[in-house]
Amino acid sequence: MLWQPALPDHYNAMSDEDLAQAIAARRDQLGDILLILGHHYQQDDVIQHADLTGDSLKLSRFAAEEASKRGTKYIVFCGVHFMAETADLLTDEDVSVILPDLSAGCPMAEMADYNDVVEAWESIHAVMGNDWNGRVIPIAYVNSSAAVKAFVGESGGACCTSSNATEIFEWALAGGARPLENNEQIKVLFLPDQHLGRNTASSFGLITEVEEAAGRAPSDTAVWDPRQEGGGLREQQIRGATILLWAGHCTVHMRFRPEHVDQVRREYAETGGITVIVHPECRKEVVDRADDVGSTEYIISRIEQAEPGTNWAIGTEVHLVNRLAKRVANRGVSVRILGDCLCLCSTMYRINQQHLLWALDNLTEGTVVNRIEVPPGIRKLARLSLQRMIPARAATA
Ligand code: SF4
Repeated sequence: MLWQPALPDHYNAMSDEDLAQAIAARRDQLGDILLILGHHYQQDDVIQHADLTGDSLKLSRFAAEEASKRGTKYIVFCGVHFMAETADLLTDEDVSVILPDLSAGCPMAEMADYNDVVEAWESIHAVMGNDWNGRVIPIAYVNSSAAVKAFVGESGGACCTSSNATEIFEWALAGGARPLENNEQIKVLFLPDQHLGRNTASSFGLITEVEEAAGRAPSDTAVWDPRQEGGGLREQQIRGATILLWAGHCTVHMRFRPEHVDQVRREYAETGGITVIVHPECRKEVVDRADDVGSTEYIISRIEQAEPGTNWAIGTEVHLVNRLAKRVANRGVSVRILGDCLCLCSTMYRINQQHLLWALDNLTEGTVVNRIEVPPGIRKLARLSLQRMIPARAATA
């Protein structure tokens, strides 16, 4: 996590209304050279100032398309660090991407450290040996650092989002960037989110450790834990696995438990029932019990199309769920969060009106604070991993 210096005292002394007015005034002053992007998981105080809201990839794509059309010079990304990096990768180098609070990192992305990834890569290849007729293809969820994305690009892999993970798995298992030759075997190293990887592997009919634990063995997946010697795996497990899952997770979506699904179904059993829809970063036991699973953009579209009189429980970040609940309440659609956990992305929550105003005040004085810039040495390879995502079909993260 990066260090964010404390703001001057007067920002913390301002009321929410005064902050909102001051931000609006700064936006007017800066005009089209400024673009403010707000991720779905941001608090309402921040979202109200965004030119566009969306998931990480939608926002970065929008930034790439709009920045040149509008003559934008500064993008203020109200999200977390890897999102600002992705926006920097997809926009021209003369556009500055700003993260209002540098300490807004993504715990999941930080679970895949570049050096650990390289070490895992070398260990897996050492186990497979020089005689192995096969390849390991890395797939990085967009929730990863630019350095990891660059490693993946250099190693013949691609990025994926939560909505196109299945297509990218298919692409990799078919050989990835080059066709399969001489019956070679493919292994996928999926990082950093083991849950998205496991849920996707399961959609291919692969047996995961969840089924293995329930007595269906052996598993086609194995979890590589970078904190343990040799990833905590026996050589036989590495050789046998088709999908190697990095031991990372989202600290928000991990809080949803299978019991939450059972509980909410009991609560609504006599009042018309409830549809449970969850994000694929939830653990597989939750996804298996839910009625539907999909990315944030997919969840939003399901709720927007919901029939009046229906009840929905959503397993994703609470700010998005609460906003959706408000948006559809007047149509008679009932939306609530799944479970009683406090499912809030606390790092995203670090972005507030105070930091946003501070960044804009500096811009109006000609100073760029908190610029997120991917080093030139890794920019090209990190972009390559993004470009391999089958752009026409990769809609959302
Ligand atoms: S919700 Fe999870 S994956 Fe998304 S930014 Fe927060 S910790 Fe990272």
